[in-house]
Amino acid sequence: MLVSGLPAIRAADIRIGFFYDQEIYSAVFSVVQGEYILLGDGDQIRSLRSGSIFLIDYTSDGITVKDTAQSYGAFDQLEFRGISSENVFSIKPVYPSLEAKESDDDLLVSTSGQKLTIINRLDLEKYIAGTLETEGGPDAPVEYYKAQAVLIRTYAVKNFHRHAFEGFNLCDRQHCQAFNGKSRWNEEIYKAGLATENEVLADHDGQLANTAYHANCGGLTASAATAWNEDLSYLTPVNDPFCSESAHNQWSKIISMNEWRQYLFNKGITFPLLPDNMTPLPSRLKYFTFGERRLLISELRQDFQLKSSYLTISQQGNNIVLNGRGYGHGVGLCQEGAMEMARVGFVYVDILMFYFRDLVISQYHSEATVK
Ligand SMILES: [Zn+2]
Ligand SMILES: [Zn+2]
Repeated sequence: MLVSGLPAIRAADIRIGFFYDQEIYSAVFSVVQGEYILLGDGDQIRSLRSGSIFLIDYTSDGITVKDTAQSYGAFDQLEFRGISSENVFSIKPVYPSLEAKESDDDLLVSTSGQKLTIINRLDLEKYIAGTLETEGGPDAPVEYYKAQAVLIRTYAVKNFHRHAFEGFNLCDRQHCQAFNGKSRWNEEIYKAGLATENEVLADHDGQLANTAYHANCGGLTASAATAWNEDLSYLTPVNDPFCSESAHNQWSKIISMNEWRQYLFNKGITFPLLPDNMTPLPSRLKYFTFGERRLLISELRQDFQLKSSYLTISQQGNNIVLNGRGYGHGVGLCQEGAMEMARVGFVYVDILMFYFRDLVISQYHSEATVK
């Protein structure tokens, strides 16, 4: 089945806004692998080989670029374009000083306001591999990586225009999907992504799915309706036996009775001090009720920085004890459960169909143009 209504993009490329939310004035670019050409306002300035290093600065005249030998002038836009089969670069902000990012393919630099806009234009599958490593770490099972790759690709295509007004597709932060640059610790990750090339999750009408995921569901995933007030039939609660032994399955937090009493008072609640609608786990509630009053559990989670909104509350002496399960919003795929499913022999399609109900894997075909 073909997915309809997708954005027209190049078959292989995506633009990622680097160091999003940071105001970068100065950065160092270096070639790690392959060969590049440097273009200023579209004109070729020179070619660069591995080890070449350039300092890029925002100035009132434009973007200046120089190496140890000379300065090349000021431009509105710079492009470092990889021209060999494998091209890897590093970009290190020096003002402010931030950790360098190493990534594949091209780097574009422009300005917005009085700062640099730094964009990595790279092959979509390489972006997926980098995001897979950021999300799943370097040692997860292959079928988990494949399942997660389909989710990351679906998100990227569905949200392709999210940052269009800033000149790129997605940012490198949690706001979109965290992308720390090149996948470099495990080459199986890139292969796992490629093994699912073009595959996305869609509903039966061909609409791309909301492919939410989280670290651990605590044994029961949350519906989109409970977590976000958004009723999506494929994001319904799933009993998950696979994550029970994992690192983030359970948590607890102790709050003094005085602090709890004050907290409830600030919410307009004086009595009772324990919710009266609490059921023993497992069930996920949206509100706790205290007599006539209601407390949104998502608000409680935020106020106390809890790992999840799946919890019970009890009193032990002069303390209130919050006993919770899981880590994250609980909607969609449970990463630790999915890893365990892969370990015990399920393949990625099984994993996706377990966490997302009534969806299909579709082939994504962009309206390709020539690079
Ligand atoms: Zn974003
Ligand atoms: Zn789970």
